[in-house]
Amino acid sequence: MKGYVFHGPGQAAWEDVPDPDVQEPTDAVVRVDTVTICGTDLHILKGDVPEVRPGTILGHEAVGEVVEVGADVRTVRPGDRVLVSCITSCGRCRFCREGMYGQCRGGGGWILGHLVDGTQAEYVRVPFADLSVHPLPASVTNEDAVLLADIFPTAYEVGVLNGRVRPGDTVAVVGAGPVGLAAIATARLFAPERVIAVDLAPARLEAARKLGAEAVADAREAPEQLVADLTGGLGADVVVEAVGVPETFELCTRMVRPGGHVANVGVHGRPATLHLEDLWIKNVTITTGLVDTHSTPTLLRMAAAGRLPASQLVTHTFPLERMEEAYDVFAHAAETGALKVVLGGPQREVVPVTGP
Ligand SMILES: [Zn+2]
Ligand SMILES: [Zn+2]
Repeated sequence: MKGYVFHGPGQAAWEDVPDPDVQEPTDAVVRVDTVTICGTDLHILKGDVPEVRPGTILGHEAVGEVVEVGADVRTVRPGDRVLVSCITSCGRCRFCREGMYGQCRGGGGWILGHLVDGTQAEYVRVPFADLSVHPLPASVTNEDAVLLADIFPTAYEVGVLNGRVRPGDTVAVVGAGPVGLAAIATARLFAPERVIAVDLAPARLEAARKLGAEAVADAREAPEQLVADLTGGLGADVVVEAVGVPETFELCTRMVRPGGHVANVGVHGRPATLHLEDLWIKNVTITTGLVDTHSTPTLLRMAAAGRLPASQLVTHTFPLERMEEAYDVFAHAAETGALKVVLGGPQREVVPVTGP
């Protein structure tokens, strides 16, 4: 089969690789029909995630059809259409038993396209299949579903739920990339008074408005002043950081009201300053997190009911074999206007899996 293989910083290619097969009785092999590229994949390509070994197939989000299962798999069978989650779960370790699957110590967690071969390929082996794939209702399209593998649960759990968004809140979302936009869409499920989006790119602020942000602010033009003006000088009840640089994190801590929440979602590569000289007296809660995907079944039900605008974030689609071009478009989002780039179609032609 073909897969998108990482060969070290700055080097990756869509090339021939061996077909995956069931190695453990809890594995499933899934034929990948639809897959997407995550900002994290770009971090890997830059060399920011050194534990990814050269030779690893990238990707941790997919929709496809189960083609083979191990003897211990109970919840899916060959022929089932499933969502492959970015997080796999052993189901047995302390963290899994507390629903904190992202921190799994039993061989799961974020492993696809990280510690084991991922989803940007024609087939993928999914460990712990019972707890790591989700059967899909027929009414959820592949494009909607694939955004529920990572960015929607990430934005919802790490941004909206950790931030404790409540009805009537003012919610500020800093960074209107895919995860920020998903945070705007899922914050709105709680009927906030308003959502304010902050970004540098006019196209992304426009997308934020389409997804329901009532106000938008250019990050260079004192967005904390706009938030203060809209809230009688108090600040936002909840601020979601969806960028991952020190400047935006520090901006979030200036925009939050006393007693409010700052929910960090951004992937940070550098230290940020925590201004305790201002914050110590403000009763502010700051949360961090990796997604657990405990909300994926809920989000799938909402997508099936037409209550999640997931595929609105898809700006570009490509056939699977144009992976390299898709990476190029996604990596140059400022010029291409890319939000989410989706590869594959509704259903690929069925080719029987070969190999042992
Ligand atoms: Zn991701
Ligand atoms: Zn576990």
